[in-house]
Amino acid sequence: MTNIDTLVEENKRLAQELKQRLFELSILYDITNSISYTLNYDDFLRIIMNSLNKFLDYDICTSLIILEEEKKAKMCIHIAHSLPIRIVEEIKRKVINTLRSLRAKPITEDQITLDLKGDILNDEGSYQNIKSSFDVPLFAGDKVVGLLNVASTKDIAYSDNEIKLFYTLATQASFSIEKLQAVLAGEKSKMKVMVEGMSEGVVMFDEQDKLVIFNAAAREMIGENLDLLGSLEEIRKVQKKSFDIHLDKPYPRIINSQAMCIKDDEGKSLGIVILLKDVTREREIDQMKSDFISVVSHELRTPLTALKGAIDNLLDGIAGELNQIQKECLLVSKRNIDRLNRMISELLDISRIEAGKIQINKQPTDITGLINEVLRLFQDMAEASGIILGAEIASDLPKINLDPDKITQVLTNLVGNAVKFTPAGGRITVRAGVLKDFIQVDVIDTGLGIPHQDLEKIFDKFYQVSRLGGSRTPKGTGLGLPICKGIVERHGGRIWVESELGKGSKFSFTLPI
Ligand code: ADP
Repeated sequence: MTNIDTLVEENKRLAQELKQRLFELSILYDITNSISYTLNYDDFLRIIMNSLNKFLDYDICTSLIILEEEKKAKMCIHIAHSLPIRIVEEIKRKVINTLRSLRAKPITEDQITLDLKGDILNDEGSYQNIKSSFDVPLFAGDKVVGLLNVASTKDIAYSDNEIKLFYTLATQASFSIEKLQAVLAGEKSKMKVMVEGMSEGVVMFDEQDKLVIFNAAAREMIGENLDLLGSLEEIRKVQKKSFDIHLDKPYPRIINSQAMCIKDDEGKSLGIVILLKDVTREREIDQMKSDFISVVSHELRTPLTALKGAIDNLLDGIAGELNQIQKECLLVSKRNIDRLNRMISELLDISRIEAGKIQINKQPTDITGLINEVLRLFQDMAEASGIILGAEIASDLPKINLDPDKITQVLTNLVGNAVKFTPAGGRITVRAGVLKDFIQVDVIDTGLGIPHQDLEKIFDKFYQVSRLGGSRTPKGTGLGLPICKGIVERHGGRIWVESELGKGSKFSFTLPI
C-alpha cells in the first residue's frame, strides 16, 4: 500500500467517524432540548425511548422509574416489533427484579403503573425468545431511581459506539431526572405555602386516614378538634358531604364543612379533602332574607287585602250609587291590586326557591287531570282572543309523584304565557307523553316566538324580551319562567325552550316517573 492509499483509507475512516459523531450529537441535542421542557415523567420517558429507537435496533424497550416519595413507580414499555405476551411479561419481571437488586428499598408490582405501546401477539406457536438484553441504571444524585432496558429476540451484538451512546443517553436522562425532581419538589413546596396561606380552611387525610394537611385557617377555626369534621368512614361511604358546624367558643360562629373523596386520573382513591369556610355572615344574611320575606308577605299583603275589600264594597254600591267613570277608576285600581298581589307572590316564590326553602309536597298524581284543569281555566280567555286551545295527551301516562299545586303553577305559567304571546287566529297545544324514565310535557304555540339571542337568558330572574312596539305587549315581572325552572328542577326534571321568531315557541319540561 502506498502512502497515498493509506491516507485515503484514513480519510474515509475519519469521515465515517465524523458522520457517526454528528449523528450521536444530533440525537443528544434533540433529547436535551426536548427534555428541558418536560414537567412530567410520562413525557420524559417517552422522549428517552423514542431517541433510543433511533440508533438501537431493539424489539422491546422498557423503562422503570421510581416516582416521588418512593411510593409509586412508572413503567413504560415500547414494543417495536410485535411480541408474544410471554416475552413481555418476562421482560417486565426481569426489569423489576434488576431494579430491586440495585436499591435498598423494595418496590412491589402494585405500586407500578404501566404504560404499554405496541402490538402483543397471542402466545401460541411462538418459539421466540429474548436473545440479547441490555440494562442501564438511572440515577438521581448517587441514588438509583430507575432502569432502562433494551432487548431483542435476535442475537444482536451492539457495537462499542452504540453502547457508549446508550450510556451517554442514560447519563443525560439521570441529569434530567434530578432536575425534574427538583422542579416537582419546588412546585410541591409552593403548593404547601399556598394552601397554608389560604383564607379557607383545608384539611386532608390520605388513604390510611393519616392527617397530611391541616392549614392555619383550619386550625384557627376548629382548633385541634378534628372530631368536629365527622367520621371519615361515613364520608367515604357518601363520597361528598356538606354540613354546618356551630361553635360557641371562643365566640359564636358557623363553619361550613365540605368534605369530598378525591381520586387520581385512573380513579384510584387518594384520600379525603375537607374545606372549611366561616359562613356566619352568610347565614345571618339568609336569616335576614327569610325575615324580610315574611315581613313582605304579611305587612304588605294585609293592607292590600283591606284595600281590595274596600274597593269591592264601593263597587257593590255600599257607599252609594257610582257613576260610570267612578266605576272604571275603581276597576283599574282593583286590577292593579291583583297585579301587585301576583307580583308579591312571585317574589316570595323566587326567594323561597333561591333559599332552597320551597316546600314540595309530592303525592301520586295523574298529570292529565292537571293539564285539563289548566286548559279549562284559560278556555274563555283564549276564545275571547281568538285562539284555539287543544291537548294531545298520551293515554298511557302513569301516575307520578309530584306536587300538584306546584306543577299546576308551572302549567298555568306556560299556558298563560302562550296565550299572552299568541295573536288571534293562533293555536296552543299541550302535549304530554312518556319518554324513557320521564313524562315530557310540551306547551306549543304559534305566537310571536322569542329572538334567538334571548333564548338562553329567558329563564333568568327578571329577564324580559324587549319587543318592537313593546308598549303593546302585556307587562309581567320576568319571574314566571325562573319559578317554573325552580319547581321543575326540585322535582328532578328539566325545562327548556325552542322557538323561532314570528313562528311560535315550544316550552318543554320533564318529570321523573
Ligand atoms: P313574564 O312574567 O314577564 O311573562 P316570564 O319569565 O314568564 O316573565 O317570561 C319572560 C319573557 O319570556 C317574557 O317577557 C316573554 O317575552 C318571553 N316569553 C315567555 N313565554 C313566551 C311565549 N310562549 N312566546 C313568546 N315569548 C315568551
